[in-house]
This record gives sequence, C-alpha cells and structure tokens, in this order.
Amino acid sequence: MNYKDLEPYRDVLLLNADHNPISIIKWRRAVVLLLKERVKFISKRVVCLKNYVRIPFEKLLSVKPTKNLVKKFGNYQCAYCGIFENLTIDHVIPLSRGGPHTFDNLVPACRNCNEEKGNRTPEEWGKFPYRTHYKPKSKLEIILKKSNVDEWREYVYSWNFFFTYHLYSFQYFLL
Ligand SMILES: [Zn+2]
Repeated sequence: MNYKDLEPYRDVLLLNADHNPISIIKWRRAVVLLLKERVKFISKRVVCLKNYVRIPFEKLLSVKPTKNLVKKFGNYQCAYCGIFENLTIDHVIPLSRGGPHTFDNLVPACRNCNEEKGNRTPEEWGKFPYRTHYKPKSKLEIILKKSNVDEWREYVYSWNFFFTYHLYSFQYFLL
C-alpha cells in the first residue's frame, strides 16, 4: 500500500494514531506524509499517523470558550445550584490554583455560588458542578457527519469516545 492507492486529487481524512480524526488534508499533503512514512494508508480517502500526537482539546474543537458558549453548554444554568439568574463564569479549578481557561474547566455559576466558592476547588468547597449532556461540536465533526464519503463518516463516533474519555480523566467529573 502506498500513495498510489489514494484516490487522486481528492481530500483525505487524517487520523491520529488512536483513529480519532484530526483534520482533512489535501491529497498532495497526504502523498508527502506517506512518502515520509509519517502516516499509514487506511483506505482511499483516509490515512493515519504512525505516532500519536497529543492535541489540546481546544485545538480539536477549534472553538474558543467564550462566556456565551460556556453558558450555552451549561444550559444557561448555575452548575452548582441550578438557578438561571445572575450568571457568571466559574473556573472549576480556580485559575490561581492552576486550572486552565478551557471548556472542561469552565461552567456557568450564579454570582452567589461563585462568591461562596471563592478560590476553592470543588473538593474543598464540597460542591461539584452539574454537567449537561450538551457537548460542543467541532467544525471537523460537523463536516464528517455531513460528508458523503462513507469512509469518513465512521470516524465521527471516535470523537464521542474521545470526549467522554477526556472529561472523565479529571477526578472532579467522576462525582
Ligand atoms: Zn448558584
């Protein structure tokens, strides 16, 4: 199997070594990656990296965690007491304690809860954020779902697995 097996001049789906989709690349780039032996041939329109590349979650999503999006993903509800008013944004693990400014560390919280929690982690405060099942969709996921390339659509599901795995790898989501 080599670059001649690719469907000529058609875009190719690039997968990480664990088969999670990373991006859609030009045929030419796929040929170069194959020639450099950086990727394996999977099918006419899909190649896979030989070595796993750790890609930050935010980069995969290609969506920045704006206040509005964090509120939307949190159903416009305080993640601690459930009310719909006076919403602010809370870093579950506070910034000052090394918590990142990323979707998996941001929840909507009402002013009262946010002030009461202060600079504490959920463990220290004794209250844990409630999560909705809504998850942000990446542009790539949308493209893959809509795509008429059968070989691509089957990789949409790896995304869901990835997301679940990613979230639950944090201790505070286990509770
Ligand atoms: Zn609250």
